Formats: sequence, structure tokens, C-alpha cells
Amino acid sequence: MKEIIVSTGVVNTPQLLMLSGIGPSKDLQKLDIEVVQDLPFEYRSDAYWECYIRHISTTEYHPCCTAPMGPDNDNSAVLDLNLRVRDIQIPELHSSSYHRRGGPIAVTYSPPSGLTPLGLKAGSELGYNVTDYNGEIPEGFSVVQSTLRNGIRSSTTDEFIAKEKRQNLDIVTRSFVTKINIQDKKANGVFFIRNGRKQYVKARKEIIVSTGAVNTPQLLMLSGIGPSKDLQKLDIEVVQDLPRLNKTEVSGQDPYDHPSIHANYYSNCEDINAVLGGIRIWEQLMETDTFREVGVDTSKTKFEYRLDAYWECYIRHISTTQYHPCCTAPMGLASDNSAVLDLNLRVRGIANLQVIDSSVFPNITSGNLNAPTVTVADKASNMIRGIGTVEEFKNRV
Ligand SMILES: Cc1cc2nc3c(=O)[nH]c(=O)nc-3n(C[C@H](O)[C@H](O)[C@H](O)COP(=O)(O)OP(=O)(O)OC[C@H]3O[C@@H](n4cnc5c(N)ncnc54)[C@H](O)[C@@H]3O)c2cc1C
Repeated sequence: MKEIIVSTGVVNTPQLLMLSGIGPSKDLQKLDIEVVQDLPFEYRSDAYWECYIRHISTTEYHPCCTAPMGPDNDNSAVLDLNLRVRDIQIPELHSSSYHRRGGPIAVTYSPPSGLTPLGLKAGSELGYNVTDYNGEIPEGFSVVQSTLRNGIRSSTTDEFIAKEKRQNLDIVTRSFVTKINIQDKKANGVFFIRNGRKQYVKARKEIIVSTGAVNTPQLLMLSGIGPSKDLQKLDIEVVQDLPRLNKTEVSGQDPYDHPSIHANYYSNCEDINAVLGGIRIWEQLMETDTFREVGVDTSKTKFEYRLDAYWECYIRHISTTQYHPCCTAPMGLASDNSAVLDLNLRVRGIANLQVIDSSVFPNITSGNLNAPTVTVADKASNMIRGIGTVEEFKNRV
């Protein structure tokens, strides 16, 4: 054997290395493991970051977000909303009108890998710009921009909650919400389980559900809001018949049962074509002088891999998800039969009940979901407080 390659994953790789004596010496000594190599790695969840991609057009949002800007200014309204939450850390972008300093979420370049400069060089060789994809011209090659502050994840919890020391906020952790109590079409309170005990909290004003694109439709359905046919099948009393809670199916009345998720990946051939388009660019990249010079040779394969059919088979079998579910309780106009929420993100037909999370999008966003979700939440919090959101940024672009 020449060398050993460890590919045991993000959890088991550090475990295996530590069991083999490679890791922080202090930790190894505590475990009576002989230190072979003192390495300072650690696996902290707050050390991870999210790739930050702003959303480009209003079609991903809704008049809900852009209405205050007026009909002529839609795309810049989306940018303005997004700028509110950003604190760009990349010096050469400080003066860009597509970025802003001073917002809550820090954005900077992800630490590059050894391949990063090669990727950028090969992209240039193919005629692409090295670009700021969150700037004026999104198309091109770039180092990934991520939510990082001083090397640590710039998370919504840290930036919006922990730093602010809010007096008007009580957080109850390790609590699992099981049902929203709705009487006479009005949300009154929330049942939850904490330390094995069922508890109830009464809402004085209103309830905001932010349990994410999978659990929000689940919780609404467990509370009697959803397609009446599906609810009746589960013996759940129908409180409000709403037409669509997208492809998330509750299997029973037990809130701890996992809902079935029908993602229907690649049921639309346009999605295959989009991925195939990406692979075709990747093929060109692999044939650039940049990659040939470091020994990349795509000719040595027994498969006729350039055929569309080969790639389609590959895509259908080997693709993995990046976990960006959304649009499961979409907002929409009163005339939109598929809308679960109105334009103020209130559940249609139920008083005092709002949803604010990635469920609310009417359309899948063009980039990753974190930035759009934070943007919608920021906008929604200002709508609740009756504060105009974009005034100060109106003339920026
Ligand atoms: C592995 C992974 C990697 C990702 N990478 C990126 C990335 O690089 N860039 C990017 O932009 N996006 C990324 N995303 C997507 C992004 O994180 C999500 O789109 C975003 O977090 C959605 O926010 P949300 O508020 O809708 O839901 P969430 O962040 O999921 O928040 C929902 C919260 O509700 C809680 N909850 C659910 N049910 C209950 C209940 N019954 N009672 C009490 N609490 C409950 C959950 O524990 C959770 O804390 C990634 C997602 C995953 C899973």
C-alpha cells in the first residue's frame, strides 16, 4: 500500500484521526490516547458558514416585498432589502453599490482551497469574467462568498439575537411545538413539549410560525390547516381548508412522526437540462490548458460519457441535494388559489397567525436560500412594526 486516504466524512474523519492519535494534544491526553501529532482541529457547528448568494429578481419574491418601492423599481427594491442585512467584509467591494457595510450578517470570501486559483484561471481561459456574483454582473467565476465574521460563522442567532441582548424576547429552548390552538378561526396559543411535559403558551397578540419549509406545513396540518381531503384521511379536524401545502405529507397525528417529503427531483426535464448545462461547462474547464497542466485527462474512461444519455443517467443516480427546501406555504394574491399566505404572510382565513421562514416563497430562488430567508424575515419584522424598510437605500443603485 502506498498511502492511506481517509474519506470517512465530516464526523467520522476527525474521530478516526483522533483515535489514531492525531488531534489536539490536550483532548487526546484526557482520553489516554498517545499523541502522534498535535493538530488543532476542532469541529464546532458555529465554525461552519453558509454560502451567500443574493437573489436577483423580484419574481422570486412577491409584491409583498417590493410594493413599498413602487412598480418601476422592483429589482433594485429586492437588492435594497437584501443590502439591509449585509455587512460586506471584502475590502475591494466596500465601495460597490451592490454591497453594504454595517448590516448584521457578515459576508466574506470562503477560505480558498488549493484548487480555487486553478478554477478562476481556467474560467478566464474559457472567456468568463472573474466576477462578484453578488454584484452587477453575476455570471462568471468567483471565490464563494460566505457568512463569516473573523473566521466564525456569522449566524442569524449570533447577529440578530445574541448581540442585541433584547429585553422583549424570551427564548425557551429544548421545546417541541406540537399544535397551534385555533378557536373560531383565531390562533390563540401554542402547545409544546418541554422536559417531557406538555405545556401551553397563550398568545396575547399573534403567533409567528418559523419552523422551516418542512415543519411549517407539518405543524399547520397538525393544527387543522391544509387540504381538507388529506386532513380528513388522518382524522384531523379541518380548521381551514387551504389548497396546497406543497408536497409535504403528514403521516398521522403524532407530531414526532416525520412527514413524507415528495421533492420530485428531476420530474421536470428542464432541471436535467440545467444540470447538464453545468456539466458541459465543467467538461470545457477540464480541457483547459490550466487543468491539463496539472494532469487532468478526461479521455481515459471506458464510458462514452459525453453523451447526454450518459450524463442524464449519472445525474439521476448520483446527484445529491443541497437541502434548500422552500415554497411549501407560499404567499400570494387573494386570487391565487395556490397561496397559503396573504401578502402580509398571514395564514389565509385565520386571524393572528403568520408564517415567516423559507416556506413563504412563491417561487424557488435563483441562488441559495439563506440570504433570501433572512431578507424576508427582516422585511416581515418591519412590516409587523409598521416600519418602512427600504427608504434609506432607495437611491443607492
Ligand atoms: C446542510 C445544509 C446546508 C445548507 N447550506 C446553505 C448555504 O450554504 N447557503 C444558503 O444560503 N443556504 C444553505 N442552506 C439552506 C438554509 O440553511 C435554509 O434555507 C434556511 O436555514 C431556512 O431557514 P428557515 O428559517 O426557513 O428554517 P430553519 O433554519 O430550518 O429553522 C427552522 C427552525 O425550527 C425548528 N423547528 C422545527 N419544527 C419545530 C417544532 N415542532 N417545534 C420547535 N421548533 C421546531 C428547527 O429546529 C429549526 O431551528 C443549507 C441547508 C442545509 C440543511
